[in-house]
Amino acid sequence: MTIHPAFSFELFPPRTPEGVEKLPAVIGQLAGVRPDYFSITHGAGGSDRDGTYETLITVVRHSGVEAVPHLTCVGSTRAKVAALLDRYREAGVKRIVALRGDLPADTTASSAPGEFHYANDLVSFIRETHGNAFQIEVAAYPEMHPQATSPGADFDNFRRKVEAGADAALTQLFYNVDAYFDFMERCSKAGIRIPVFPGIMPITSFARTVRFCDGCGADLPRWVRLRLEQLQDDREALLDFGLSVVTRLCETLLRNGAPGLHFYTINQAEPTLRLWEKLALSVPA
Ligand code: FAD
Repeated sequence: MTIHPAFSFELFPPRTPEGVEKLPAVIGQLAGVRPDYFSITHGAGGSDRDGTYETLITVVRHSGVEAVPHLTCVGSTRAKVAALLDRYREAGVKRIVALRGDLPADTTASSAPGEFHYANDLVSFIRETHGNAFQIEVAAYPEMHPQATSPGADFDNFRRKVEAGADAALTQLFYNVDAYFDFMERCSKAGIRIPVFPGIMPITSFARTVRFCDGCGADLPRWVRLRLEQLQDDREALLDFGLSVVTRLCETLLRNGAPGLHFYTINQAEPTLRLWEKLALSVPA
């Protein structure tokens, strides 16, 4: 049996009236290439709880593609999370991306208010309260989560999420392909068999790429950083270069066993669709 790679597109709840107005068209364009699902981010502490739900409904109305909410737990209570899970179940949601979320300022995971401290607590809670009603995806960090004490400790914490019942993982964005393969080797040695989908961020700007990489601790290879810096005033040339870097990354991943790709679209259809078009040439049918 041939297993086809799975592709998903991540959106965030728009925060401006223009963003809200634009979103249905973005969803419509992205839905045209028939992704497996759209996922929708969720502010830490439930700060855009309603935004996630509204965006989910927009996806369902404008695409007919499966809509998957992210659910963050830090700063929240069991009662609030239970209410959200019930709401999602009533709306026909079958899959959830379960996350801790970023910590409120001046707190640590253990001192943050609320009844959940780590994503594994949330995965356990979903399994306890809803059994297998939801497929659960969790985050993975091939280059280590920035707050982790060591790569080994971070990997042990990833394993806790898998043992708590995660079905699959989506990685943090990365541009260093070896980090993903190293992570997969560690999974294999640890007997972890769930699919781990690489998180792909199209490159459309020097400043934004550097900011994202610095923010999440992803390695931006020196030669890529230097080329982007040099091209930052020539938008077309920068887009072409970014496209070729990310296309090569995706091709290498898919040819070497990645089960699919999760695209961080930042609510823009064009960069992801340009990448998609280039990849269609080389992605196995
Ligand atoms: P965890 O898996 O809980 O890990 C957080 C840190 O705690 C790590 O350093 C880990 O090593 C450590 N740790 C984990 N478990 C334990 C334990 N039991 N004991 C001790 N230490 C532990 N953020 C949002 O706010 N909204 C979103 O919608 C969102 N979507 C995302 C989607 C993807 C695919 C990814 C990769 C990230 C996303 N994030 C989102 C960012 C994420 O919330 C942050 O990276 C957050 O800091 C960690 O979340 P986590 O679920 O990975 O946490």
